Amino acid sequence: MDSSTSSMLNLLWLLLPVAAAAGWFAARRSSAKRPDAFWNYSANFHESLNELLSESGDIPSELFDKLSASDKDTADTHIALGNLYRRRGDVNRAIRLHESLLEKPELGEQVQSAALLELAQDYDSAGLLDRSEATLRQLIETGERLPEAYSALLALHEREQDWKLAIDVANEIERVTGEDRSVVIAHYFCELSQQAKSHGYKEEATKLAAEALVRNDRCARAHMLLADLAQAANDHADVIAHYKQVEAIRPELMPDIIDAWFDALHNTGDKNALRDFISHISDRRNAYSVVRTTRSAIEKLDNAETADRFFKKQILQRPSLKGLRDWAQDQIAISKPGEREKVQIIFTMLDQVVEDKPSYQCGRCGFLGNQLHWRCPSCSNWDSVQPIIGVEGE
Ligand SMILES: [Zn+2]
Repeated sequence: MDSSTSSMLNLLWLLLPVAAAAGWFAARRSSAKRPDAFWNYSANFHESLNELLSESGDIPSELFDKLSASDKDTADTHIALGNLYRRRGDVNRAIRLHESLLEKPELGEQVQSAALLELAQDYDSAGLLDRSEATLRQLIETGERLPEAYSALLALHEREQDWKLAIDVANEIERVTGEDRSVVIAHYFCELSQQAKSHGYKEEATKLAAEALVRNDRCARAHMLLADLAQAANDHADVIAHYKQVEAIRPELMPDIIDAWFDALHNTGDKNALRDFISHISDRRNAYSVVRTTRSAIEKLDNAETADRFFKKQILQRPSLKGLRDWAQDQIAISKPGEREKVQIIFTMLDQVVEDKPSYQCGRCGFLGNQLHWRCPSCSNWDSVQPIIGVEGE
């Protein structure tokens, strides 16, 4: 018997209890598709097993307790089973399984590092964040699975909102792996700046937002923070300078800054600057919020007629439900008594439709919301939540 046949036979023995579980699954589930796929075992044993076990449902644990880790394949099974236990909420059993692998250094570095990575997730699921962090640090010291270990460590600090530690780890990642983490580091400084601002430490908040720009000079969020701080200090020219940067870096964020930008322009009392800005906006297609705010600025500066002309031209260039709603509202006031009721109904319906629409969406996971999140609350990506552009949005 050659060695490959012998190892296949060993594997078949190992598979017997798992096969029993697979059969048991087939009996439990109306669809027999997964066990079939499972029997088509080839080299992707570990993946198939993980996939099979990722299905929810109870599995008689005594089937698995009989397995003992003695070689690489069995160790993979242990890791997959540990994952299954963790997903089912049986974290203690997952920890015991993964720890048992760490007690067998003869299984090799690959198994040890995989076990450490899983163990860190087990501790995390159990809410033992200190232990999770220590386990990831232990893994990083081995030099194995660095990208995954660092990502997990960074995610852990982000969830704890410990931005100083997150900055330290991101700096370390840049130093050790050469990866550019400047975008998230700038966000961490912005988080610290926001914290300082909320505690009334404006000077500290300004310093931290400026530090964010040192790390990433294209950080629109830092410019928005600095504009807010400048506004609080009545430095209107500075507010405008920062909003110009935001527009240059992320023009899609104009709806979020347009009101404050116009306020700053009004506050400077510089009518020429205000006219220049209005003509800058009039020359292009704009998000609806920008059109609405500009319309009222024109009305204040010139007259209602000029403002209406601008409004109609803009909403025809870029039709949106919001534009249609506001146009219908305008028509109520000027329609004849017999028609007024009908226009009112149209306006009320459109208003309802617009109110029910979310304003922001994550480009990565599709999360919908009504406020701008710098980090998606659903998939945790930075800068992936954007204003919804188009007929149903801006
Ligand atoms: Zn997302």
